[in-house]
Amino acid sequence: MSGFKLDNILRPNIQKLVPYSSARSEFEGKASVYLDANENSIGSVLGENYNRYPDPLQKKLKEGISKLKGVHSKNIFIGNGSDEPIDLLIRACCEPGKDNMLLFPPTYGMYEVSANINNVAVRPVLLTEDFQLNVDTALKAIDKNTKLIFICSPNNPSGNMMREKDVEALVKSFNGLVVLDEAYIDFAENRSWLKSLGQYPNLVILQTFSKAWGMAALRVGMAFASAEIIDVLNRIKAPYNINEATQQLAMKALMREETVREYISAILKEKAVLINSLNKFSFIKKVFPSDSNFVLLKVDNADTLYNYLVSRGIVVRNRSRMPLCENCLRITIGTAGENLLLQDALNTYQS
Ligand SMILES: *Cc1c(COP(=O)(O)O)cnc(C)c1O
Repeated sequence: MSGFKLDNILRPNIQKLVPYSSARSEFEGKASVYLDANENSIGSVLGENYNRYPDPLQKKLKEGISKLKGVHSKNIFIGNGSDEPIDLLIRACCEPGKDNMLLFPPTYGMYEVSANINNVAVRPVLLTEDFQLNVDTALKAIDKNTKLIFICSPNNPSGNMMREKDVEALVKSFNGLVVLDEAYIDFAENRSWLKSLGQYPNLVILQTFSKAWGMAALRVGMAFASAEIIDVLNRIKAPYNINEATQQLAMKALMREETVREYISAILKEKAVLINSLNKFSFIKKVFPSDSNFVLLKVDNADTLYNYLVSRGIVVRNRSRMPLCENCLRITIGTAGENLLLQDALNTYQS
């Protein structure tokens, strides 16, 4: 069993922190006159109550997310994209210049960038050739200053899910926080780890409205964890991190879950069509299995193909400089029309 205690993981200054107390969080009841926050009492040129500061804890939106996910509101944090909780977790736990965190490259770039911004050392533990976790090597890389492990599943850029038993082994044997980034879980066949959240006091799960929900521009990310971890994130976040317009739009989106389901099945269907056609090109050496809304391809020459596609007005992601991704391109599943344009371009590509 893990000997996890949050107090052993938090930086001392965060444990002692007296958070900013906003006008909106100090007075919780209902009143008829609000003269407590120096807002413009007359109104806003935009109407819609935009003259008032938004709910710092996004209670209504959390109720909606709670119903959608089957997780209690006290276990939900909402961030300005999932990039916000990634940064907050590092800042809460890792003493700059002293503590470290584990990553499994090739993976999402923001973990390392956030670590660098905070002057926190990164210990990379390469995924295996089939992009799975190397648990033994990871456990050996952990020392007393390792506070966080970031796991991305389905992983970006490889597209696959991590084996459940490997994730479980890490969560169970690590005394720090395991952050499991499930940004692409809506496209995966296997279920989210949310169902097991209650069993693991050191597990933090990240999800987002940026991908399947089609709301990348609004910046709404979620972290799910024990109430005590969520409490820490709430204490150190910017007081009004989710603006009012976004809170309202996200609540509106929650009423359209059925349409999101339709988007997901359309994307998955299109993915199957695309993979089928990609497999026919001799210059595409491998299409890696994908549990997400993108596929990673190994090609004969990634730079040449990338530049050729750009010349045809099609931008994909060249991942060939990431470890284990030599000559690899990552392609987002587009609309049926976009995928046809891609296939057209590939048809006329001379390698
Ligand atoms: C796209 C993506 C996110 C989403 O980030 P947001 O800040 O919520 O838009 C998170 N993690 C991974 C691995 C991603 O690819």
